[in-house]
Amino acid sequence: MRPEDILVPTPAGLCCKRGGFHIDPTRVVERALITHAHSDHARPGHGEVLATQETLDLMRLRYGDNFAGSAQSIRYGESVAIDGVTVTFHPAGHVLGSAQIAVVADGLRIVASGDYKDVRDPTCAPFALVPCDVFITEATFALPVFRHGDPDGEIAKLLRSVALFPERAHLVGAYSLGKAQRVIALLRKAGYAAPIYLHGAMEKITDYYVARGIDLGELRLVRGAGKADLAGTITICPPSALNDLWTRRFPEPLAAFASGWMRVRARARQQGVTLPLVISDHADWEGLTATIAATGAGEIWVTHGQEDALVHWCTTRGLKARPLDIVGYGDEDETDATTGSGEEAS
Ligand SMILES: [Zn+2]
Ligand SMILES: [Zn+2]
Repeated sequence: MRPEDILVPTPAGLCCKRGGFHIDPTRVVERALITHAHSDHARPGHGEVLATQETLDLMRLRYGDNFAGSAQSIRYGESVAIDGVTVTFHPAGHVLGSAQIAVVADGLRIVASGDYKDVRDPTCAPFALVPCDVFITEATFALPVFRHGDPDGEIAKLLRSVALFPERAHLVGAYSLGKAQRVIALLRKAGYAAPIYLHGAMEKITDYYVARGIDLGELRLVRGAGKADLAGTITICPPSALNDLWTRRFPEPLAAFASGWMRVRARARQQGVTLPLVISDHADWEGLTATIAATGAGEIWVTHGQEDALVHWCTTRGLKARPLDIVGYGDEDETDATTGSGEEAS
């Protein structure tokens, strides 16, 4: 039995012919297993969807009740048999509800990790290491230059700036699903107790996090606030809103952006970001390589980002490795920064 007899990359995404399903399909399929609710992984219109309850709920929030023909939820650690293949979902530590999917057939275990990070995040279950024969890893930040460092240190930078410029409004660009809520939770963890303001595009998803028991403190919508009230405050908004007329409602707005890409100074400058905050929901180079080694997998499939460097790293360590070359996945921070939030500016 070869791994390719269990899972094979196709233009529609990873396909398990035997089980008749795709993982994170990029096109509409009969049966989809979905790792997490980011839009490049979770698309609407599939026949059947199997995912965690949180992922299903977030898809429903984004796409409406008819996001799929039918939906079945699965808990972390729970196994489901599908036509001779067993699938189990494990926490990926990426965003609320995110999962790695282990597919086992004839004693061979393949883990499709989706997007993941191996750092603690107060808004989701921590990454679980799943020993396996084949590990499928993302490669968003798969270059040695990417070291995300300490998110608490980045939050401290933001709070210092707020203390230094009490007359200004700090706008923090953060992707609306996951990053926004994590930044808020990190601010609370750092002892910041003032109300935090939200762009309207953040409202539904943030409310959902709170409903799932994640404590984010007092939140207010920018929509209801006067300009003078916003001096000295922190507002979380989609990255695309940072360069929008929307910022005119703030007194002397100062643009921050929470993203792993902020390690690249030129990119921060290009996007008009005064205060880059290196906070990422993806593993950095260190995290990717350490995780790959820890799974004990002898074969690594690399997808979704800078595949070459990671494939090379694997082969120099005697691991079998290949890029998957599936088109259709992006990085959520980039998608949002370049195409807009796609939601009402308020
Ligand atoms: Zn993602
Ligand atoms: Zn992704």
